[in-house]
Formats: sequence, C-alpha cells, structure tokens
Amino acid sequence: MQNPKIALIGFPYDKNSSFLRGPAQAPPVIRKAFFSESSNLWSESGLEINDQIFTDSGDVKIESNSDAFTKIEQSISLILSNNQTPICLGGDHFITYPIIKTMAKKYSDLHVFHFDAHPDLYDELDGNRLSHACPFARIMENRLIKKLTQIGIRGLNGHQRQQADKFGVKIIEMKNFNKDAVFQSKNPIYISLDLDVLDPAFAPGVSHQEAGGPSTREVLNIIHSMEGNIVGADIVELNPKRDPLGITAMAAAKFLKEIAAKMIVSDP
Ligand code: MN
Ligand code: MN
Repeated sequence: MQNPKIALIGFPYDKNSSFLRGPAQAPPVIRKAFFSESSNLWSESGLEINDQIFTDSGDVKIESNSDAFTKIEQSISLILSNNQTPICLGGDHFITYPIIKTMAKKYSDLHVFHFDAHPDLYDELDGNRLSHACPFARIMENRLIKKLTQIGIRGLNGHQRQQADKFGVKIIEMKNFNKDAVFQSKNPIYISLDLDVLDPAFAPGVSHQEAGGPSTREVLNIIHSMEGNIVGADIVELNPKRDPLGITAMAAAKFLKEIAAKMIVSDP
C-alpha cells in the first residue's frame, strides 16, 4: 500500500524567538483544534482529510539549535524518502531554515511563498543569526531556493528593504495587497505561513501582533487560487499563551486542512 501523501510533523521549538516564548507549545494545540469535534475534516474543495491521504508523524523534541538542524533534517528527509509531502507545525519561524535546507536537497529550484507581517530578512537580531527574524536571510544567502515571494508584509525597515533588494526578493507589501491576486509558479512550491500575517483581529495568538493585515478568508482564497505543485509547507508562530479563546489555533487548523487538500488537488 502506498504511504498517505501528506505527513504532518511538529517542531515545538521557540528558543530563537526575539520577544516572547510560547510557539513551542503550539503543535499539540493545533492538532487538538484540527481534530476538534466542533468542526469536520472536509476541506472546502470537497476532499476529506482522512488517513488514506494524511498521516501524523508526531512531534520532534528539540533541545538546542544544533539539535534542531540534525533532527529537522532527519525527520524531513525521512518524510521525503517515503514519498510524502511534509506539513510542518512550528515552533517559531527559525524552523523554516533547517526545513528548507533539507527540502533543497530534493528540490533544487523551490519557489517559496512566504505569508508574514514581517520579511524575516534581518542579517542578525540581538546578535542571533538564527533568530526567527532571520530565516529568509539565511535561506537566500545560502542559495537554497530559486525564488522568494513574500505576501502581507507590513514591518519593513530600511535594513530589510536593502536585504530584499540584495537577494532579489519579491515583496507584496500589505499596502499593495490585492485579495484577488493569483500566484503561480512552474517551480515546486513551498508555503511558509507565519500566522502573524493575519490581522490580529483574526489571529491574536501570535507574539508579534501587527495591525492592518488580511483576514483569514483573504489568505485562504489566495492559497486556494494558487497555481502550481505544492511540495511542502509550514505553519508557524502560533503563541497559545496569547490565544485564550483558541481563535488563532482554529485558524491554524483551518489552514492545515486547506493546505493539505490543496496539495492533493494541485498534484499534477
Ligand atoms: Mn511575523
Ligand atoms: Mn515570520
């Protein structure tokens, strides 16, 4: 029997968060929301996320940064060698760097669509080059991907604008956001979804609430309308300590469901 196409995996690690800790608690909270009887597992595309197509590889315990690189590489490599497509739950946004480093061994020409209020292109933050504010600087300077498109950005400063120019990053700033835009790529697509891309009214449970973002619906529509083959994704930066009603966890679970369905539907 063939392995289910999608493998969910959690990386509960937030030691590179610059402001607040909390995202290390997120993976079990997102799973609980995902399997909650308050909803069902049918995606809007009409596909049910069942165990024929979806398997849960559990959480990977990570103690340190070097541990993170080793264990994330091991677990993502295993998923890829089983011919499965990973959906990774953070953790803070640091985890995207070791994930992409591993994905790049299989896919040399990834196009990453990065949804975030922040470009995460700092060369370093507070002396930490692995800060959750830096992963896309590391990914770009190590030439791990072919293209980076950032959507929803509204925390750009002078330094990060320079970094974006230097690395040729395409940034769709929130002020120019078009809810009807259709994103496409001929390259294998990886989606990196920082939940703080959403307006804090829709997703208060993040460490860096940045007002003036898109709604959950607007981001879902953009993901639904994407054209291309999605070969991996992450959902990061849920901070359950800031999410007393679980609204943000339910939004994360919704994205998990819709991205999983999209991976199946978009597979050529
Ligand atoms: Mn962010
Ligand atoms: Mn981020």
